[in-house]
Amino acid sequence: MSYLDLDLNLSKEDRMLKEAAHEFARDVMRPTAWEMDRMTAEESVGPNSPLWDFKKKAYELDFHTILVPDSYGGMGLSPFQQALVIEELAWGSVGLTVDLAVAAFPSFLASMVPEEDIIEEIILPFCDCKDGKICGCWAITEPMHGSDTLLPFYPSFSDPAIPADCTAAPDGDFYVINGQKAAWVSGAPYATHAALFCQIDSKMGHAGGGIVIVPLHLPGVSRGAPLEKLGQRDDPQSELYFDNVRVPAKYCIVGPDAYEAMLEITLSFTTVLMGVLSVGIGRAAFEEALNYAKTRVQCGKALIEHQDVQKKLFNMFSKVEMMRQMTRAAHVFNQNTSTPAEEYSLICKVHGTQWAFEVCSEAIQIFGATGLTKEYIVEKLFRDARAMMIEDGSNDVLAIAAGHKIIENYPRRD
Ligand SMILES: Cc1cc2nc3c(=O)[nH]c(=O)nc-3n(C[C@H](O)[C@H](O)[C@H](O)COP(=O)(O)OP(=O)(O)OC[C@H]3O[C@@H](n4cnc5c(N)ncnc54)[C@H](O)[C@@H]3O)c2cc1C
Repeated sequence: MSYLDLDLNLSKEDRMLKEAAHEFARDVMRPTAWEMDRMTAEESVGPNSPLWDFKKKAYELDFHTILVPDSYGGMGLSPFQQALVIEELAWGSVGLTVDLAVAAFPSFLASMVPEEDIIEEIILPFCDCKDGKICGCWAITEPMHGSDTLLPFYPSFSDPAIPADCTAAPDGDFYVINGQKAAWVSGAPYATHAALFCQIDSKMGHAGGGIVIVPLHLPGVSRGAPLEKLGQRDDPQSELYFDNVRVPAKYCIVGPDAYEAMLEITLSFTTVLMGVLSVGIGRAAFEEALNYAKTRVQCGKALIEHQDVQKKLFNMFSKVEMMRQMTRAAHVFNQNTSTPAEEYSLICKVHGTQWAFEVCSEAIQIFGATGLTKEYIVEKLFRDARAMMIEDGSNDVLAIAAGHKIIENYPRRD
């Protein structure tokens, strides 16, 4: 039995899925991510980028539809299987896994509030796509609003005095979109569709938002230059600008009446997945450190034979294994209820990404100076993990949100 099989409930199908995802992560994602990490941001979305080949191969294997139900042509994985597969992909590259996840975002969200036209025009073509050319993004962060946008039911969320940078105004059978989203929209340099979270009713503050699926070929849409950044350089990002963009009203899949609740459901999903990504990257760093410690000799014996190194490896291993159990439990629980417990997802995001960062940092410590060089992957893993503590919400702010929820929801016991 391998440690990764601690969960004894893995079926034959689960094991095959896990193995297929691991092979893809090892043979395609790692080399692609490694190459993109060394490119400029501009090159990473240029014609010679390995990103396009990666996307084509991922779509051929249906990895773009991990989050979409099979009734619409998605892989139709159970929540447990989603966690299993996403951990393996994140082992290969967190940045590229995020790219695949956001590619599915418009279809994933639309599948939660299915309407005939949207199924036909958005979800089915995406699931049928095999060349990687139809891909979405999740546009929520604004230049003036990062954390502001991720705190549904928090007092400031419904403050009408806090203006939004991106709005959708109803106009007959259309919504007219104006404004911009921040430079942090993953996949925005090449996405064909955005799941745009923007303000519709300013009297309600951020709570008066809506979700509009915006085809990004429409007149009035433009994009910023891809962003140069410290980590996850294999997840290209840029701004999206909207200048009187007219979108058919049917593409507004959630309006202000349901926005806050839908945002909370969305965040329960995205934050627990950040925990799953943390398991994948943490495991990658642990394995690198373990292998290196077996070969490097100091003071006459392999590092692995020194007790302090053994203790370090134990702590790294513990963090990965504990977070795996927590993220799987939270994801399965939240996917099997109509009222997800966001606080459990937030535990996975806040502690998962923190632990992933600590594990990657310890891996560098075990490598010594060698770990600081670009010759070894632990240096990249460390930078990628650092970005995760801000990505999808800064850990500090999400901890505040979780505290707020726990205080509200924890049952009184006398
Ligand atoms: C790799 C990566 C991928 C991303 N992908 C996407 C994407 O696909 N789509 C998208 O829309 N966005 C994306 N983002 C943006 C991300 O969601 C935001 O960066 C995040 O929500 C934080 O917002 P901010 O950067 O504006 O920081 P701010 O909100 O400005 O926060 C700055 C600092 O202030 C602190 N702070 C803020 N408010 C409070 C408060 N109330 N109390 C105490 N402290 C506070 C924060 O903790 C933080 O330390 C991505 C970011 C990264 C790094």
